[in-house]
Amino acid sequence: MNLYPLGLRLAGRRVLVVGGGAVATRRVPALLDAGADVLVVSPGLTPALHGMADAGRLTWRRRRFEPADLDGVWLVQVAVDDPAAAAEASSAAEERRIFCVRADDRTEATAWTPAVTRHGPVTVAVIGGGDPQRAVRVRDAIRHRLADGTIPVAVSPPGPAGHTGAEPVEPAERAGRVFLVGAGPGDPELITVRGRRLLAEADVVVADRLVPGLLLDELPAQVELIDAAKIPYGPAAAQEEINRLIVDRARRGATVVRLKGGDPYVFGRGGEELSACLRAGISVSVVPGVTSSIAAPAAAGIPVTHRGVAHEFTVVSGHLPPEHRLSLVDWAALARLRGTLVILMGLKNLPAIVAVLLANGRPANTPAAVVQEATTGGQQTIRSNLGDVVAAVAAAGLRPPAVVVVGAVVTALDPTDPD
Ligand code: SAH
Repeated sequence: MNLYPLGLRLAGRRVLVVGGGAVATRRVPALLDAGADVLVVSPGLTPALHGMADAGRLTWRRRRFEPADLDGVWLVQVAVDDPAAAAEASSAAEERRIFCVRADDRTEATAWTPAVTRHGPVTVAVIGGGDPQRAVRVRDAIRHRLADGTIPVAVSPPGPAGHTGAEPVEPAERAGRVFLVGAGPGDPELITVRGRRLLAEADVVVADRLVPGLLLDELPAQVELIDAAKIPYGPAAAQEEINRLIVDRARRGATVVRLKGGDPYVFGRGGEELSACLRAGISVSVVPGVTSSIAAPAAAGIPVTHRGVAHEFTVVSGHLPPEHRLSLVDWAALARLRGTLVILMGLKNLPAIVAVLLANGRPANTPAAVVQEATTGGQQTIRSNLGDVVAAVAAAGLRPPAVVVVGAVVTALDPTDPD
């Protein structure tokens, strides 16, 4: 017999989960995500479920199932190993005509749960005809194709009054949107899932030089790619022009992805672009990214904090020399800190930065490292100390983009370190 698929709207509706073990732990999050009023009946709970109960996200009855637990329930998930206990709960549900999913025996269940993937507003649910592995394989193939854009998820904008939907909507009739997306530090796998999805949906991509080229390679030919080319120490496309471009494309109805290296708000001028969109009345949102200030040290085996070593990390821009009249950084104060100092855009001014740190008391033997082009094929790391790091950078011929890390964390995980 064929199944009859449904999308259940569970918000505020009670769902009973019988059992508090590993299977229940996997089932409960999706129920909570759907807004269900989750009741778990079980003598014990896994730590994860315990946490959810403590946080008030679900109700826990600390005992075995009783038929009265079905009062007011719309759906039952039976997630216990003991076949007799599972059968008791499921036959009680059957008596009351409440649909019941059984983890232990799908042939006895009145409902099956599909393998699910979500892509923005679209939910894909796959049932493998009784073979869960098949469902997962098909689901994964669909998920992959949704993510790379080969299954297009067109945005269907509300047409103007009287629009039949039969003819294509003119671009100007669509509401454009802007997403400021962090692309991560360089490895194309280090963009977020949401960032990658939005990239697959974009009509226009405005990219910095520091975004991973491989992400741009994957864009379909019809996507307009604008290179914002804000090259460090090179010719910079004026920020005004970038703001104007993204606003202009969105006004024409495009979905614009402004793709920025690392995180959009870490020395990324994301705030200016957000303000420009808001001033123009354009819908805009930010998708955070993996910032190089944490990922570059990590890629070189340096944790920005470490138990017993550093209880703080400070991220600072070195693009202006310490004495510059526009500098907002209190370098003398930073020199007095004992934790980790991470300097971005700091290579050109490194001699002056090191001098001011030493002059204000940071010891010359403080470990220091420089990581160039972290998480890419061009990654290079030098390890030194504050007194010698300038010479070491010159000797290795390091170039931007690079992150400078100062502090004891540099040697915290180094097995060759005598300490
Ligand atoms: N928004 C970005 C930083 C932009 S400022 C982020 O969150 O990562 C540009 C600086 O970031 C570069 O000068 C360099 O200091 C650092 N940077 C970016 N990508 C890097 C990488 N892959 N390796 C080392 N440093 C990097």
